[in-house]
Amino acid sequence: MWSKGVESMAENEIKQGEYKLHVGKIEEGFVIDHIQPGRGMKIYRDLGLDKLDCCVAIIRNAYSRKMGKKDMIKVECPIDQFNMDFFGYVDHTATIDVIKNGEIISKPHLELPKKLTNVIRCHNPRCITSTEQQLDQVFVLTDPENGTYRCKYCETAYRDDDK
Ligand SMILES: [Zn+2]
Repeated sequence: MWSKGVESMAENEIKQGEYKLHVGKIEEGFVIDHIQPGRGMKIYRDLGLDKLDCCVAIIRNAYSRKMGKKDMIKVECPIDQFNMDFFGYVDHTATIDVIKNGEIISKPHLELPKKLTNVIRCHNPRCITSTEQQLDQVFVLTDPENGTYRCKYCETAYRDDDK
């Protein structure tokens, strides 16, 4: 990612400008960028950002050269407490900038996880996970093209109507 050189440097500078314009500078935290427009609120809810004490900003329909419009979320708390699989699951085309001391220190690559553990729950009432509550909720990516996940135990496909 860093080897792209001048081009990605230039894009970073533009992004830094965007942060300043819309949400101010972050000292420590992360920015979820290039979220598909309209999906920012879902990520906000599903990640439990409404329950955090720290500063969270959602920018909807921001201008994007690449996408036309995009949503962004700025979170002023360490990213460590979040399950990275979740980000990949909800929107693997989004990007994440991890920020420390006001600088971008890393950009974790997002992809559809092959396996999800305790990210989504099986809706099949006869699934063993419904009765054995201590079992992990494990889903396996069975169709990468359509992003279909199936429960490891009962093979029920997970449907996310909001997505
Ligand atoms: Zn199941």
